[in-house]
Amino acid sequence: MALVNLDEMLQRARQEKYAIGAFDLINMEFAEAIVAGASRVGSPLILSTAAVHFDYVDMESLAPSLVKLAENAPIPVALHLDHGTDLEMAVQAIRCGFTSVQVDTAHLPLEENIAVTKEIVKIAHAVNVSVEGELGYVSGHEGDHGSRMESDEPIYTEVEDAQKFVEETGVDCLAVSVGTVHCLLKGEPRIDFERLRAINKSVPVPLVIHGGSGLTEDTYQQLMENGMAKINYYADLSKAAVESIKQSLSQNPNTTSITEVLSGVRPAVQDVVEAKIKVWGSDFKY
Ligand SMILES: [Zn+2]
Repeated sequence: MALVNLDEMLQRARQEKYAIGAFDLINMEFAEAIVAGASRVGSPLILSTAAVHFDYVDMESLAPSLVKLAENAPIPVALHLDHGTDLEMAVQAIRCGFTSVQVDTAHLPLEENIAVTKEIVKIAHAVNVSVEGELGYVSGHEGDHGSRMESDEPIYTEVEDAQKFVEETGVDCLAVSVGTVHCLLKGEPRIDFERLRAINKSVPVPLVIHGGSGLTEDTYQQLMENGMAKINYYADLSKAAVESIKQSLSQNPNTTSITEVLSGVRPAVQDVVEAKIKVWGSDFKY
């Protein structure tokens, strides 16, 4: 169908109170499984690549295949850079064909975060690429790597900051910190819905949740009621893939066939993607 940016899909999701999954891929096998899952249930898709995973997958080599995959998909697909490290990486992603970028500047003081984000928005919007801004700090090990903050305490997004940030930067969507964490949790996190409601009322853009794994259906529902239109999802995909490998090894402990060991990864990832899309209500929404 088409490679698109986030604007139209997220605006509609916010209005109709459903959410689009931003599934992080680590290689083409993941990417193909994610696209297959979303295609089967007819959902728009955000195919997300996290900068922490560039340690073992090269953006410039991977991007042409991702672009082709998105263009050939029967659904609208946005290619998104998740947690880009700086302006240079965002520009590189845009040159590679990404249609949406996030540069992780949330650890900077507000004014600096605004200044850098504004610059990214100016460059990205000139070529029809959308920008996700982030305010506050979502703790936990994003993409299963180490955390950036020493204490790793979450920093909640302040309502007034959110309003000022969106107004001054012109971002297309805003990631907020309201209690979720990156990576899998043992228990259900305590989400500050009051804060979320207030942020949603004070900004005109769709909101984004990082650390979307491990929440109950009821929590997702409440998040979507309050402007959450993009859900970043990786930890449970990773877990499903690892479980499938463990299972295949336990069934064939003497195998030396890598394709046999990995044969369950694709269906496992696809199943999780389809199931989540149904919970988030973006199936048959394009
Ligand atoms: Zn994140």
